[in-house]
Amino acid sequence: MRFSNIMDSNSYTGDQSIDPGTERLISARTRLLGPAYRLFYERPVHLVRGRGSHVFDADGVRYLDAYNNVVSVGHCHPHVVAAVTRQLETLNTHTRYLHDGIVGYSQRLLDGTMPDDVDQVMYACTGSEANDLALRVAQMYTGARGVIVTRDAYHGNTEAVTAISPSIGGETVIGPHVRTVAAPDSYRSDGNVATRFRADVEAAVVDLQRCGHGVSALIVDTFFSSDGIYPDTSVLAPAVAAVRAAGGVFIADEVQPGFGRTGDGMWGFARHGVVPDLVTMGKPMANGLPVAAMAARSAVLEPFALGVPYFNTFGGNPVSMAAAAAVLDVIDDENLVANAATVGRALRNELTRITADHPHIGDVRGAGLYVGVEVVADRDAATPDRTRAHDLVNAMRDRHVLISVCGTHGNVLKIRPPLVFSMADVDWFCTEFSGALAHLG
Ligand code: PMP
Repeated sequence: MRFSNIMDSNSYTGDQSIDPGTERLISARTRLLGPAYRLFYERPVHLVRGRGSHVFDADGVRYLDAYNNVVSVGHCHPHVVAAVTRQLETLNTHTRYLHDGIVGYSQRLLDGTMPDDVDQVMYACTGSEANDLALRVAQMYTGARGVIVTRDAYHGNTEAVTAISPSIGGETVIGPHVRTVAAPDSYRSDGNVATRFRADVEAAVVDLQRCGHGVSALIVDTFFSSDGIYPDTSVLAPAVAAVRAAGGVFIADEVQPGFGRTGDGMWGFARHGVVPDLVTMGKPMANGLPVAAMAARSAVLEPFALGVPYFNTFGGNPVSMAAAAAVLDVIDDENLVANAATVGRALRNELTRITADHPHIGDVRGAGLYVGVEVVADRDAATPDRTRAHDLVNAMRDRHVLISVCGTHGNVLKIRPPLVFSMADVDWFCTEFSGALAHLG
């Protein structure tokens, strides 16, 4: 089986010995689910319970969850659990009946968090579906099919979005209508990363036009997560302008940075000062329930909306909307955007201090509670070190702290805890990180 960067950079290989109970569960899972699935870590973790930013394994051992952006307001948050339970006990049905839940939530999302021009929203169950829908909307609005993505983008798992997700690798085929551009790598760039990014996008535009695809959309994760976490806010506006000049639209994939993670506000695109044509969101939207959406400028949505009726059995149902509304409540009530800013800054500062003289840590970067740490073989040459990053992730796991990796070379530690991460969690994290670094040398 061919290597998949996003799936294989931190996955169980079976090379290390593990206890017989875990081994039995792994082999039953493999037999029943088939070989497409991957498990994290050389010694997979069997979780049974969670609370806040902590999770517990089958032996009752507590782990620090520094990776989970789905349960963004914390594992098993009581306010979300109560809202979902109440609604499940009352009614759950689909969107062809009137219900206050979907209208009330849409109003809060659009009026309370989106730019004025992004004024309509449609619901789905996964980020993949939301992106699939966004591609269809963009195609109908522009009459073109060409799509520009970053070189290690991940946008989901339907046929249409795997065709724009080069990081999946394996046997995945990138569509003939897709052009990739290098992500804005501020660490390895020796000049103006925004200028280069715009130039690459312009070249992709020219090539798509030359080949007869035209330009439908530029779609990016506005934090460039799978590419390696690039928080530079100068890069998007010029590239978006170039795509719009060619008649294309801009789709902001907010599945990763959305709902307050960057500590600067609710959305990653807002940090860049751009207003997208389409915004897709999912993962953290309902703290673990499968809820996703695509928000749009109504003028961009119109050709699709008038031409293609839409129905999604589970998307936007009353229980999903109750969960999503409860997440917005918690983000407000517990000041989680500010918490992401403060605690995230403390985490980055402490990691920068710990690693200042370390020969194999080249960069600590991020915003809010999304942190990337470059593991390198040589600091001067900035040579990516996939093996050392893999060893660090597994050393942290053995110390009961959960993180993973991302980036083209699988060498960027990806630290992305729930937004309720506390200063005590930062201390716990940094103590174990220092220990892991010292141990590995
Ligand atoms: N876009 C981005 C940027 C993602 O990270 C993901 C999931 N990792 C998706 C889309 C797809 O979301 P889902 O798994 O809910 O389909």
